[in-house]
Amino acid sequence: MEQLTVQLDERVQKFLQGKKKMYINGQFVESVSGKTFDTPNPATGETLATVYEADQEDIDRAVKAARKAFDNGTWSRMNPAERSRLMYKLADLMEEHKEALAQLETLDNGKPIRETANADIPLSIEHMRYYAGWATKITGQTIPVNGSYFNYTRHEPVGVVGQIIPWNFPLLMAMWKMGAALATGCTIVLKPAEQTPLSALYLAQLVDEAGFPDGVVNIVPGFGETAGAALVDHPLVDKIAFTGSTEVGKLIMANASKTLKRVTLELGGKSPNIILPDADLTKAIPGALNGVMFNQGQVCCAGSRVFIQKKHFDNVVADMATHAQSIKQGFGLSRDTEMGPLVSDEQQERVLNYIEKGIAEGAEIVTGGKKTREEGYFVEPTIFADVSDEMTIAKEEIFGPVIAAMPYESLDEVIERANNSDYGLAAGVWTQNVANAHYIANRLRAGTVWVNCYNVFDAASPFGGYKQSGIGREMGSYALENYTEVKSVWIANP
Ligand code: ADP
Repeated sequence: MEQLTVQLDERVQKFLQGKKKMYINGQFVESVSGKTFDTPNPATGETLATVYEADQEDIDRAVKAARKAFDNGTWSRMNPAERSRLMYKLADLMEEHKEALAQLETLDNGKPIRETANADIPLSIEHMRYYAGWATKITGQTIPVNGSYFNYTRHEPVGVVGQIIPWNFPLLMAMWKMGAALATGCTIVLKPAEQTPLSALYLAQLVDEAGFPDGVVNIVPGFGETAGAALVDHPLVDKIAFTGSTEVGKLIMANASKTLKRVTLELGGKSPNIILPDADLTKAIPGALNGVMFNQGQVCCAGSRVFIQKKHFDNVVADMATHAQSIKQGFGLSRDTEMGPLVSDEQQERVLNYIEKGIAEGAEIVTGGKKTREEGYFVEPTIFADVSDEMTIAKEEIFGPVIAAMPYESLDEVIERANNSDYGLAAGVWTQNVANAHYIANRLRAGTVWVNCYNVFDAASPFGGYKQSGIGREMGSYALENYTEVKSVWIANP
């Protein structure tokens, strides 16, 4: 195994000592049961830290704290400028701790430090700042109604929100959830994924230091079927915001319906990435490859169905394979690592099973297809050719570094095939023809379309899915709608 080229931050070393407590009502506390779980380093499989495990009783305490903080108005009726100030302060603290946060994220998730330091953490900070700005700008309407009435709307916070997030971008997903909720005046119970609880617990320290009132932000690591389910069931929670698999999203929606909670879901995808014959291939080939390989392929919007026009198919696939073979895999904490391990042994197993299925169903492996090494949870960047639309690897989300490359003949055919999916999260198009770009962008049934780029994000631009990729939009002004109720007020004029 290669040398680590990153000196571990003293704050990270200190943080990793001792059992990590959950954050409820402004206090760091043990679980009621005393139970803990270990979170491993995916590059080695060794235990990285031990974390107190939230269960139903801990969730109940956290929800009651959030309920109290909401109902007593300390947060929901705080001056918006003051809410904004606290959010900016949290962002500033994250900036001060950005190196520690990046290292911790890399250790817990496995992803390369060049990504956590240059994408995850900066985007997280930018996100909090963006919504800090919104806190003072949430307005309703005055409406010219019939009769002698004055009518106006208030956009009020929805209440206590349960936020359940995945392990692929742990801190960034926490920010996507928390930003809009805090700006609108909601209070939060956030459950990080059991695979990656550490950056959220580190964040809890910064929330505490920033001086948010007790109970506004509660962070409770635990497992999905216990802690997550308890949050979804809890009658004092007004809304659930979830990011994760479509399978769990359906379960959450069904369970939340018992108490008719508001639900927003950001789920899976099998996004098409279409290379037109007029594309600049020097950009399209590495661009489409990175559209899948980024974050070890563990991205809900990964452009994992790559459509290539028939006459260019062999050349493009061969070139893409050459690029894939040059990706440097290794420990996330080495500065030159471009691809780390998958997050867990379970995920590694899942991805390898999909690869076996691809082979069994007759697709051809052009490159990759195996574990990279015995230690840790690495899988080689993998490209399949000869993939047909009916194959499992063309239909199901793999959530790993696996490309299904598929040839097509005509523009309308590829649009139809791209849309022929239960998912509709994102799509990519590579072309130098502006008319084709607009034509395809309009016709694709997906929440985001990237033209001559992929995986580009900004806190100001909405993200979310059509079809079974989700409900609602995160980011931008659109996300505010997820966290507000609209109240119509009528005042009779004398
Ligand atoms: P993945 O399969 O990629 O791990 P999941 O959708 O299982 O993604 O998990 C995403 C998040 O949902 C995690 O925080 C997990 O603990 C949580 N979760 C899993 N199952 C449930 C459930 N039944 N109820 C509530 N939350 C759940």
